[in-house]
Amino acid sequence: MNREKRHRSSRPGWQEEIAGERIDILFRLAEEEFDKHPKRSDRYVELARKIGMRYNVRIPKKYRMRFCNSCGNYLVPGKNCTVRTSSRTLSVETTCRNCGHVMRNPYAKEKHKTE
Ligand SMILES: [Zn+2]
Repeated sequence: MNREKRHRSSRPGWQEEIAGERIDILFRLAEEEFDKHPKRSDRYVELARKIGMRYNVRIPKKYRMRFCNSCGNYLVPGKNCTVRTSSRTLSVETTCRNCGHVMRNPYAKEKHKTE
């Protein structure tokens, strides 16, 4: 029962690395396809999120504002979402035009660069 968990700290990193690469590729495809096939972009986002969940890999910060947390749509500023900065909350607010969900991404200084 415990044999899988014994070497938790030495869990192979390659799986996460590959998952990260796939997420990267999927978001790039989503960007490329959006003009012609926006539905496909949504599908790529869905796949990327599934990979993230499966391998316990976080979607990189640079992509986290590129899709709606609520409906899962791939978001392109000026096309299907509105982006504006709020000096009150010191954050970038992205509003999904599909479902109206608002996401806030603080632009205050980060402690460490992790990416
Ligand atoms: Zn949405």
